Amino acid sequence: SALIAGVRRDRLDAMKTREAKRFAKGRPRTQAALAAGSDRFLGGVPMHWMKDWSMPFPMLVAKAKGAHLTDIDGFEIDDFCLGDTGSMFGHSPEPVARAIRQQARNGLTYMLPTEAALQAAALMTEIFGDFQWQIATTATDANRCALKVARAVTGRRKVLVFNGCYHGTLDDTMVELQDGKTQARRGLVGQAFDLTQSATAVEFNDLKGVEAALKTGEIAAILTEPVMTNSCMVLPDPGFHDGLRALASQYGALLIIDETHTISSGYGGYTRVHGLNPDIFVVGKCVAGGMPTALWGLRPAVAERFAAYDATRAAGHSGMGTTLSANPMQFACLTANLSEVMTPKAYAHMEKGAERLARGLQKVIEKHGAPWHVVRVGARVEFICAPGPLKNGTEAAAAHQHAVEAVLHTALLNRGCLIAPFHNMMLVSPATRKKQIDRLIAAFDEILTELF
Ligand code: PMP
Repeated sequence: SALIAGVRRDRLDAMKTREAKRFAKGRPRTQAALAAGSDRFLGGVPMHWMKDWSMPFPMLVAKAKGAHLTDIDGFEIDDFCLGDTGSMFGHSPEPVARAIRQQARNGLTYMLPTEAALQAAALMTEIFGDFQWQIATTATDANRCALKVARAVTGRRKVLVFNGCYHGTLDDTMVELQDGKTQARRGLVGQAFDLTQSATAVEFNDLKGVEAALKTGEIAAILTEPVMTNSCMVLPDPGFHDGLRALASQYGALLIIDETHTISSGYGGYTRVHGLNPDIFVVGKCVAGGMPTALWGLRPAVAERFAAYDATRAAGHSGMGTTLSANPMQFACLTANLSEVMTPKAYAHMEKGAERLARGLQKVIEKHGAPWHVVRVGARVEFICAPGPLKNGTEAAAAHQHAVEAVLHTALLNRGCLIAPFHNMMLVSPATRKKQIDRLIAAFDEILTELF
């Protein structure tokens, strides 16, 4: 029969049926609980993405600690998804859990700063660099604010993003290339305004394309991840980031680096590890150890330009901020995470584990002659069910093999390993043990043995 990603269709179908049954059979309690209560949620889940996992029905989690999850049917699972980076430093790291207990005695939100806020700002600058900081609750919102400032100070309307990017559910970035032209992404719900008026999509690793877009004089900012982590995984070509920096400066656009995922690269994120020089820095998800928190910071020169703009702005709403942002619980967690959890020592452990994982998976792929490959950025590892390396979002979209990936994800879960949904991402936390990594590699081997 026909091959997909090198796998025989009949073998894949057989595995799909069997693994779905196996998942369901072991979970009577989960099924009963869902039957009793899930229909009160729109679509049966509290957030609609939860339907996009590959398992036949959602797993209900009883508890999580370190790199370990337990579901309500008592399954013990090694967690390599880690909340898709929200828990990249492990579930409930002890210093963060302690900070939560302490802050819980002193109020949860009051729209005023604390001493811990000042402490956190010092840590942020020490770790990420010289930026003038603001606190948001999600990376989506941090990007949204960063973009507003970029537009304000440049007086230009468009953001340049890379085809296949993801920066949160921020309307402005929801564009893609279709037949070489910027278009709104297919599938957007209730999209009412023309996104092509406010965004331009260019292929990653295409500096000529970037320059052509900048030449229009319409681009306020280039918004990019250092590595494309939401479209399989696409690494920057040597010189790509230097080129972006130089072109942004030459054409008067700002460079916004979104480190929300590449914070996996090492201490201070990809920016510090690889010496990038953004005008605006954004990070979210795991930065406060799992407490919803995101940071965005302006270089002092950009902050000055913004202050000048702000001084002439009409009084009234700025369109930035949300009520619960910069609350004392966030600062308690930020301070604890940045000083005691997200340490160079923790990164050394993560790096070593991820290297072991990437090497192990690559070996399995080679052993079975699968036309697949593995990419890694620090603690973040991705296997891709297509040959590589991938150069841009178009290649990444073509490499994505949803039918194969969905079966693999459920089969891995049935062997005690949870990886991220949507694509094949795995994270190694400071709490992840060698034993867990080796179990994942062995499970991957067992599955590929059957498929190939
Ligand atoms: N930026 C990047 C690079 C991301 O990967 C994501 C989420 N996957 C976001 C921003 C948005 O994060 P959030 O959903 O927490 O707002």
